[in-house]
Amino acid sequence: MKIDFNKSEGLVPAIIQDYRTLQVLMLGYMNEEAFEKTKNEGIVTFFSRSKNRLWTKGEESGNFLTVEKIDIDCDQDTILIKAKPKNVVCHTGSFSCFGEKTDKGFLYELEEKISKRIDEKTEGSYTYSLFQKGINKVAQKVGEEAVEVVIEAKDDNIDLFKNEAADLLYHFLILLKAKNVSLNEIEKTLLDRNK
Ligand code: AMP
Ligand code: ZN
Ligand code: ZN
Ligand code: ZN
Repeated sequence: MKIDFNKSEGLVPAIIQDYRTLQVLMLGYMNEEAFEKTKNEGIVTFFSRSKNRLWTKGEESGNFLTVEKIDIDCDQDTILIKAKPKNVVCHTGSFSCFGEKTDKGFLYELEEKISKRIDEKTEGSYTYSLFQKGINKVAQKVGEEAVEVVIEAKDDNIDLFKNEAADLLYHFLILLKAKNVSLNEIEKTLLDRNK
């Protein structure tokens, strides 16, 4: 992994993304030393322009960023790091420096919305009322939606198929929540098979 540190006076921007949701968390700068330290320790260290020294994110707050994956852009002058954040990332207390509501991948947004409905016991929510009926009922519903997908797969109406596919995905996420398994764990299971 070769980075061109000469292009911008020894400093290269490093974009930090949540490894799970792909939410953009913050941007910092790295010199060669910071980059080597980050790679060697697996914890993100920047070069702080205001402190004018190496700055390990979390050195005071304990809110470290654990490296999951490092990518370099097309012309080797920008770093993209997927990291696992501890607590919040921003010193304002916000999860991301770009605000709480920066975009995540769609499925993670949906997973969180479902989780919220259930955790907050939202009255009148279909999600919560199904969840309350217990895991067997949720699992049965997933089975029904899967059958509906199969039926629509045999038909020519693509809109009906899309609707059932959406139903299946949505109920599948409720089942994951009922089993206390995260979407990311399923993703990991799939990725591990390719190793
Ligand atoms: P920390 O690295 O989290 O221990 O924070 C140490 C100091 O770095 C804080 O007092 C802030 O001044 C600054 N800081 C922390 N997090 C950020 C951030 N995400 N963006 C910019 N500055 C930060
Ligand atoms: Zn570039
Ligand atoms: Zn911030
Ligand atoms: Zn359906």
